[in-house]
Amino acid sequence: MNRIRTLIVDDSSVMRKIVERALRQAGLELSTVLEAASGVEALDLLHREQVDLILSDINMPHMDGLEFLRQMQARNLAPDTPVVMITTESSEEHVREAIAAGAMGYIRKPFTPEQVKDRVLPLLDAV
Ligand SMILES: [Mg+2]
Repeated sequence: MNRIRTLIVDDSSVMRKIVERALRQAGLELSTVLEAASGVEALDLLHREQVDLILSDINMPHMDGLEFLRQMQARNLAPDTPVVMITTESSEEHVREAIAAGAMGYIRKPFTPEQVKDRVLPLLDAV
């Protein structure tokens, strides 16, 4: 696998770092890590940057992860880039909505590097 460019979307800067660390502990070689604190910021980044993988929180101010997915599709941004949602135990309905909106999978908080690996690696075969 080549070194991958990833976008991590979460309103918590601490959580963004935790996700990045988990990806590295899962064995992913990250060449670039872009960060966004909302769907709005993430869409703006995707207009300028190409990435191989997107991990996104669902609950965020300004634009949540579900609307971010819908806007990506509406604008045809990164149509071939897998998006994995990172969510909490209490948001079953959100998970179903995210999958319906085009997410390739989800990871529940709190997560282990092994869970991240299991969810993410199968999506990166073509990278
Ligand atoms: Mg959040």
